[in-house]
Amino acid sequence: MTDTPRLTSPKEVRALLEKLGHRPNKGLGQNFLIDANILDIIANTAEIQPSESVLEIGPGLGALTERILPRAGSVTCIEKDPTMVKYLKSRFSEFTLIESDALDVDLDALFAGGITKVAANLPYSVASRLMVDIAECAHRPELMSLTIQKEVADRLVSPEGSKHYGILSILTGAFYKNTLVKKISPTCFLPPPKVWSAVVKMERREVPIVGNADYPMFKNLVKSCFSQRRKQIGTILKKLGVSPVDDLLADAGIEHSERPERIDIERWAALTRLLS
Ligand code: SAM
Repeated sequence: MTDTPRLTSPKEVRALLEKLGHRPNKGLGQNFLIDANILDIIANTAEIQPSESVLEIGPGLGALTERILPRAGSVTCIEKDPTMVKYLKSRFSEFTLIESDALDVDLDALFAGGITKVAANLPYSVASRLMVDIAECAHRPELMSLTIQKEVADRLVSPEGSKHYGILSILTGAFYKNTLVKKISPTCFLPPPKVWSAVVKMERREVPIVGNADYPMFKNLVKSCFSQRRKQIGTILKKLGVSPVDDLLADAGIEHSERPERIDIERWAALTRLLS
């Protein structure tokens, strides 16, 4: 092994982890990307300009960090594992490292401070929550290039009518255009996860589908209705005490008998506006 281990070499990563006395932590989703091609795809998808400030959540040993650093004006990382933090500090100097659970960090303050892009191989247990939290930020970033579980990627990119369409598609889709860039085999990680993954690109919409003032009600409405996704929207709204249901639905362009999974984001937004 050289002084600076190659993070795309399974052998060198194994040796490094051993040297650090570290066993990948399943609870923290520590499946390290060791495939150079996939790492390049994540970095390229972020379309980083030299003047830009980029956020990476969960840098781990730094395989993606070392690709982002030369492209960006500045890089901020949030990492929860103290062993990873110590190693990152020894490996890189020109970056800001926040040792914390990303869920406890005021992300909106980071974005307000000028971070415009997010690139990350997200810890899978908190990926959905983080994507929604970021989408809800007042200063949400203009583009995110993320590796997430394939099943979650399907939910992120699915249009209405698809069996994967639901709360995640709608809450993120209100603010971002989400696309699947590349499916990733478990063999691209060390240790390999049990599931396939995918790189997704989230591009901020110029005009959000839902306004800030309407968003809390929009979110409540979507969550309540999807908790009964097999029922007809008219029946659900009646149970929620909405009146007169059919007039409201007609004004929003929705039929009484439609199921939540068939209603596109624009019509959820229209329904929210009418309800408020
Ligand atoms: N970026 C590295 C790579 O691609 O090889 C590591 C990605 S690994 C899937 C997820 C990383 O997120 C781990 O380093 C883990 O310690 C870190 N992590 C897990 N949960 C976290 C959290 N809630 N906040 C911040 N970092 C977290």
